[in-house]
Amino acid sequence: MGAWCFLDHAGPLRFPPGPGMRVGPHPHIGLQTFTWVIEGEVLHHDSLGHRQVIRPGQVNLMTAGRGIAHSEESIGEAGAMHAAQLWIALPDDERERPPAFTHYPDLPVVSQGGFRVTVLAGEALGCRSPTALYSPLVGLDLTAGQAGRTRLPLQAAFEHAVLCLNGHARVDGQAIEPGTLLVADPGHDAVELACDAAAQLLLIGGVPWPRPPLIWWNFVARTAGEIAQAAADWNAGRRFGDVPGTTLARIAAPDAAGLRLRSG
Ligand code: MN
Repeated sequence: MGAWCFLDHAGPLRFPPGPGMRVGPHPHIGLQTFTWVIEGEVLHHDSLGHRQVIRPGQVNLMTAGRGIAHSEESIGEAGAMHAAQLWIALPDDERERPPAFTHYPDLPVVSQGGFRVTVLAGEALGCRSPTALYSPLVGLDLTAGQAGRTRLPLQAAFEHAVLCLNGHARVDGQAIEPGTLLVADPGHDAVELACDAAAQLLLIGGVPWPRPPLIWWNFVARTAGEIAQAAADWNAGRRFGDVPGTTLARIAAPDAAGLRLRSG
């Protein structure tokens, strides 16, 4: 959906007794990771030296640019986890930019028609998200504590998708539940959302990319050569740096020798 190029809906789940989620140091290039936490707490470390706990209602935005490495691990006692991590492909003139990391503890919220609308990315209902992005995008969390119905304006130039995070809802009359992603081509200037009980939706959109980027492992690029180079650099300990502050082991890149990607 526009520059949104990957979506991982993690949970809701409850870890068995033990350490919970432990994702050791691994690299990224060419993208921004956009982490939206619904339940649980995650500790982030990166090769720029950031140490940041993210809690429900907060966003971590990590801009990989030409290269960054990070780790993510559960903290806290509850052992509950529910989050969405999205990747945003960087456009050609931004993808070599220096890496960066920003934590956003407060996002704008508007209530309308029984839904609490958190503006995660871009603009909606007169509010602009502070998240620093490099393409025209929108990202909204839509949470209803009980039955609700609302009509949201959309940018007609955007393609859009809606994922159900919790409960059941209707999007322009179509039923949606967790595990379902509804998608819409550009040309819609509004969408009607409804639910009969508590529900939570994630809406994303953006201007379609003329040609989707290449995605392999944790890398977003344009050519197989760039991806193979990034994998070789990580495995040789070049380019990305170390991730101080975590005791977790580095995750090696898969063998890129057999990588065959069509270009063009
Ligand atoms: Mn990552």
